[in-house]
Amino acid sequence: MLMLIIKRTLCKYALPILLIMGILITGLYSPVMAVYGGINLVTPVSAPVNAGYLYAEKLTSSSTYGHHGIDFAAASGSDVYAAYTGKVVTKADLGGDSYGKYIIIESNHPNYAGVKFYHLYAHLSDYSDCPAVNQTVYQGNKIAESGSSGNVTGPHLHFEIRMGTNSWYSQRNPEGLLSRSTSDGYGGVLGEVRTSGGSWARYKRISGATKGTDVNYGASYSYFIMANGNPFPDEASYGINYYIARATTGNKTLSYDYGARTQNVTIYANTDYKVNTIYLP
Ligand SMILES: [Zn+2]
Repeated sequence: MLMLIIKRTLCKYALPILLIMGILITGLYSPVMAVYGGINLVTPVSAPVNAGYLYAEKLTSSSTYGHHGIDFAAASGSDVYAAYTGKVVTKADLGGDSYGKYIIIESNHPNYAGVKFYHLYAHLSDYSDCPAVNQTVYQGNKIAESGSSGNVTGPHLHFEIRMGTNSWYSQRNPEGLLSRSTSDGYGGVLGEVRTSGGSWARYKRISGATKGTDVNYGASYSYFIMANGNPFPDEASYGINYYIARATTGNKTLSYDYGARTQNVTIYANTDYKVNTIYLP
């Protein structure tokens, strides 16, 4: 009987103990289940992501802006759903410029009282299903049909997330809030980069991770940590200020701030790995 109890106890705790031992032994990496936990968005359109989030910022007048959202390869006329319950704050048509027909919805963050986040849907062909500004929409409701309005080369849904404030500088990688695919064959890498003094690093370049496919940027490009004019509590609570999704698997050397620091990582399929904090010199 005693042996049975011991065996049962061992079985009960074997997995957590092994996980803790694994984390202690491997040290640098610990698997995480969700990137921005607490906010679980509904995928806004039934189509694959074919252009990711670049984390870029306009560093000089000669550089280009990065991609501050993700693109779903949706044919014109595809139904677009509200990713989260919230209030419509923008329903506007910029004609042939920028976002074209677009919608912004304001939602309450489930983990932080009084804190808002915003989700943006652009290049729509029709948004007559979306209620007027200041009206409520519910998660999963059809709000629009995707298209190619605005400044585009072809039909797709451009989707953005803004955390804390409805500002271009408050964006985050939407893939960190969507239920990530567990079978796309890619992996994810996330972590935090701080200055030598310990504050959040801004405008810093991360390179070395590659993507299998990306229609806008190809397989290999750099990521810049956003300026994030208004630091959001998620960065402190989740301990991250970058999340590189859909990275190609294998052993990689990540380079931070043009080689000021490097970090070897192993990217595994269908898993997100958190890298220890990088302190820049
Ligand atoms: Zn886009």
